[in-house]
Amino acid sequence: MRRCVLFGYRGTGKTGIGTILARRLNVPFLDTDALIEEGSGRTIPIIFRDDGEERFRDLEREVIAALPAGNCVIGTGGGAVMDAKNMERLRAGSVCVLLTADLATIGRRLARAPRPPLTSLPLQEEIGQMITHRRRQYAASADFCMDTSATSPEEAADEILSFLEQGTIPAPARETAFRWFASGPLPAPERAQLESLLTGPERDVQTRFLGIAGWPAAHSKSPFLFNRLFERYGLNYHYTRFEDPSIGTIMRVARDIDAKGLSVTIPFKKDVMACLDEIDDAAQQIGAVNTVVFACGIARGYNTDWLGIRKPITGLQGARAVLLGAGGVAAAAAYALADLGMEVTILNRTPAKARTLAEHFGCRWGAWDAFDGLNPDLVVNATPLGMQPDTRSPLRADQLKKEMTVFDLVYTPPVTPLIAAARKAGCATITGTEVFIHQAREQFRLFFGIDVPDTVIREILA
Ligand code: NAP
Repeated sequence: MRRCVLFGYRGTGKTGIGTILARRLNVPFLDTDALIEEGSGRTIPIIFRDDGEERFRDLEREVIAALPAGNCVIGTGGGAVMDAKNMERLRAGSVCVLLTADLATIGRRLARAPRPPLTSLPLQEEIGQMITHRRRQYAASADFCMDTSATSPEEAADEILSFLEQGTIPAPARETAFRWFASGPLPAPERAQLESLLTGPERDVQTRFLGIAGWPAAHSKSPFLFNRLFERYGLNYHYTRFEDPSIGTIMRVARDIDAKGLSVTIPFKKDVMACLDEIDDAAQQIGAVNTVVFACGIARGYNTDWLGIRKPITGLQGARAVLLGAGGVAAAAAYALADLGMEVTILNRTPAKARTLAEHFGCRWGAWDAFDGLNPDLVVNATPLGMQPDTRSPLRADQLKKEMTVFDLVYTPPVTPLIAAARKAGCATITGTEVFIHQAREQFRLFFGIDVPDTVIREILA
């Protein structure tokens, strides 16, 4: 049997439910908090009091690293999800269940049990604050969610057992969804694989799905990358392509097959926002969502493009930057540059659009030909100029100075005419592939809480 790992804030019932579930499955129940107490010969409140939370987290990491790979039910401490290495270890080869409860129920349960405070706030406020703080990681920990507020531990254990036996996708929904996938442009080998996983006689009911939502989505490297990562990290997931002219239809199909998440690409990054229950602040500011995470019936939208743009230029904090273009990806770039405290000037073919974007992010703006007077440290190309089959560069060779860093967001071809010219001029260069790598890494973290080293992604894409 796969390991079953229970996640959730303290007071959501992990120990009680885990004990019953393990008994019914006839396997041991391993509670990480109890293992820490056994191993150290001290109670958790005493570890917190004498050595502080950091030492407790070290002990927790050690205990999690030593857990058996199968045939057990594991109950985790409420904060274990915050550590990406813990998530990598706990998620490998496991079925993960997130237990939740409303704040009043958690407050009542915790008032009965002595636990060390995590903040100096009154209990109820602390619970609310900690759950909000950990919300992303809890969503990332869930293959299946269970609200335990109004159920007994026995009922909750029964529901988890039924999930383990039957999964969450009813057979008719599998059939309908597959007919929809088969009617679209999914390439034949991918369609055959999806058919076997969704409706085949040998299907594993616990296999869950994610995919790229786009129209078209055939060009995306994400299915290849994510499916390799699932193999590497022991995740029972499959990543496919949701291609349709309507994002509403895609969202319906995704919900019908209880998808874990979607990467969102052209032309849906704006339109998808109307289909979501919650949107992260950065995505709201940028006006685009490229990542959707479904957990506990809620669809949350995020933008990882800006993080993918920010990462390779983190060392250029405070630089003077020129951003070429004022479209969708330029908004993510403007947000990233502003976040790094750069002095940004946005130049665009249509200056009025540069002005609108600049005013939104507190930048300067101008027409394309204003470039020559600016002498920036960093140039970011957010136009399609140079994208195959286009062979133009947005800047002339004489405009490139060796002191500049040139960042082209266009990634087909991998070395664009702008990057080739910048290298010739002696500039430091960053290619659009870097954005794909770093934004995919952030997406994976949002989906599963695991931090994939960028070297692993590079190796897979090579
Ligand atoms: P978009 O919303 O259509 O915006 C295109 C921008 O480029 C607009 O500002 C437009 O100016 C300008 N532009 C278009 N053609 C031009 C031309 N011939 N000369 C000068 N300016 C021109 O597109 P987007 O979604 O922002 O994407 C832009 C490019 O970024 C894409 O082509 C893609 O290569 C790249 N991208 C890379 C990644 C990555 O992961 N690396 C992700 C997304 C996009 P006007 O306002 O005057 O029309």
